[in-house]
Amino acid sequence: MRIEIATLFPEMCEAVLSTSIIGRARAKGAIEVQCHQIRQYTLDKHNRVDDSPFGGGMGLVMQAQPIYDCWKAVAAMDGQPMHTIYLSPKGKTLTQQRVRELAEIPRIFMLCGHYEGVDQRVLDRIVDEEISIGDYVLTGGELPALVLTDAIARMCENVLPSAEAYEDESHYNGLLEYPQYTRPEIWEGEGVPAVLLSGHHKNIRAWRTEQSIALTKERRPDLWSKWSKGQ
Ligand code: SAM
Repeated sequence: MRIEIATLFPEMCEAVLSTSIIGRARAKGAIEVQCHQIRQYTLDKHNRVDDSPFGGGMGLVMQAQPIYDCWKAVAAMDGQPMHTIYLSPKGKTLTQQRVRELAEIPRIFMLCGHYEGVDQRVLDRIVDEEISIGDYVLTGGELPALVLTDAIARMCENVLPSAEAYEDESHYNGLLEYPQYTRPEIWEGEGVPAVLLSGHHKNIRAWRTEQSIALTKERRPDLWSKWSKGQ
């Protein structure tokens, strides 16, 4: 899996991408993530990459030319075709199911917008899919691109210790995860459910499934109704 992130703030992305599980996965080559500075591709002599919107209104719009030239240059860096995603509050809301599908694509290009957004003409030219990380607006596409990269990376081989590490978690099978406990056995006078200390794997599995179902029913009736129809 190779992810290309086009942004005006590569240093912001690098700070996150060099840390913890994703940082280690990159270091050992389990995933490749490259950040590309869009500004490097502007033909403007003052290095501008944005301008005011036609028709008037607040703020600045990212121009088509630097983004298109960046996309073309990145595409040419490797023979593998790219699936291009624009992170946008107008996109389809991200789900674990879509993350699983995206993790099967060998090369993804993510475009991070900023300011008021991006000139529609370049979006029409290069974008295969728009993805939103939720119904709210952020200042830029960097955090959404990092969210998406993180979610995809954990589905890739050799990033987590085993597939079990993500298959058991919330959303993978349409349910929320059961509660988790760790040492000490008693904390501030509170114990843990006895079944978890029993060593009886079948009973532990049954308890966890029961808890997952109860939690999903209570907190996410929408997920519960979808999951129960599939059973
Ligand atoms: N004017 C745009 C609108 O109303 O739809 C919002 C622009 S936003 C301030 C700047 C950039 O942040 C967007 O171009 C997009 O890349 C990113 N962004 C903001 N919220 C997002 C979200 N919920 N999901 C994905 N990207 C988002």
